[in-house]
Amino acid sequence: MENFDLCSPAFIRELMERFNISFRHEFGQNFLINGAIPKKIAAASVGGSGGCVLEIGPGIGTMTRELSRLADTVAAVEIDRSLIPVLEYTLSDCENVTVINNDIMKCDIDALTRDVFCGREYHVCANLPYYITTPIIMKLLEEGGERLRSVTIMIQTEVAARITAAPGTSEYGSITASVAYFGTAKRLFTVSPGSFLPAPKVTSTVVRIDIYRPDERPVKPRDEKVMFRVISAAFGQRRKTLPNALSAGFPALSKSDASDLLASLGYDPRVRGEALGTADFAKIADEIVNRGEANG
Ligand code: SAM
Repeated sequence: MENFDLCSPAFIRELMERFNISFRHEFGQNFLINGAIPKKIAAASVGGSGGCVLEIGPGIGTMTRELSRLADTVAAVEIDRSLIPVLEYTLSDCENVTVINNDIMKCDIDALTRDVFCGREYHVCANLPYYITTPIIMKLLEEGGERLRSVTIMIQTEVAARITAAPGTSEYGSITASVAYFGTAKRLFTVSPGSFLPAPKVTSTVVRIDIYRPDERPVKPRDEKVMFRVISAAFGQRRKTLPNALSAGFPALSKSDASDLLASLGYDPRVRGEALGTADFAKIADEIVNRGEANG
């Protein structure tokens, strides 16, 4: 393998000059310059197991090279077209890597991974752009398909705290309840701003989400979409009590119907969404479906 020092700020600047590129703030570009971190993240994602990895936002290929060493096959989706020639250069000796120039938000992730990984199971690993963290996580979980086994991502510490929060805490919200439906999330380690070029204003944390196979999910709502509507209603109106929030999210349900529905399931109608877990949201969603009040 080539011995590129992709974590050296001097080498990064040399690359940028040579390929006539600059840091694109609009794409959340903060490149890793602490060599220990990409190694640690790649190992946390694939470990010694090999397998297939989808990387989002390879940048100049720093983590991609680590993944290439540990995994059998790597697909890396990068939105910034000006980085593609750089990646062709820095990954020229990584034969198991396929670089795709696309916006991950526009990709059909199930089809893409089925194709590049020939139908095998896969992991996602990324130093995510902070401007779009939550939408990317939700897209991965909703559209990653049943072959997605884990998601290891570096994100803002504040978002990591929300994803891994316990019900009843101030960080607990719709992203916590939604992620908990798809898998179990764990905070692994934090990374200081000085590990990036340019340095971001916030601290980062690496989180690993182990994804349940669909038939192993502990919570099985009758209608997933209705459960997600309940979750977003509950947290969309944080100051409201749950009956008010539910009735705002389900126009067919009056406030008193919502109170009655909650009471029939054994909940105090003054309960707030923050106090409930994913299983509670599924139970409420099922009752809304049973009563035929999901439409409208
Ligand atoms: N992986 C590199 C590293 O760790 O040094 C770069 C990480 S940087 C925080 C985020 C990367 O994601 C950038 O390369 C950026 O261009 C890319 N990116 C931003 N939005 C994207 C999107 N919607 N789809 C794919 N890549 C994206």
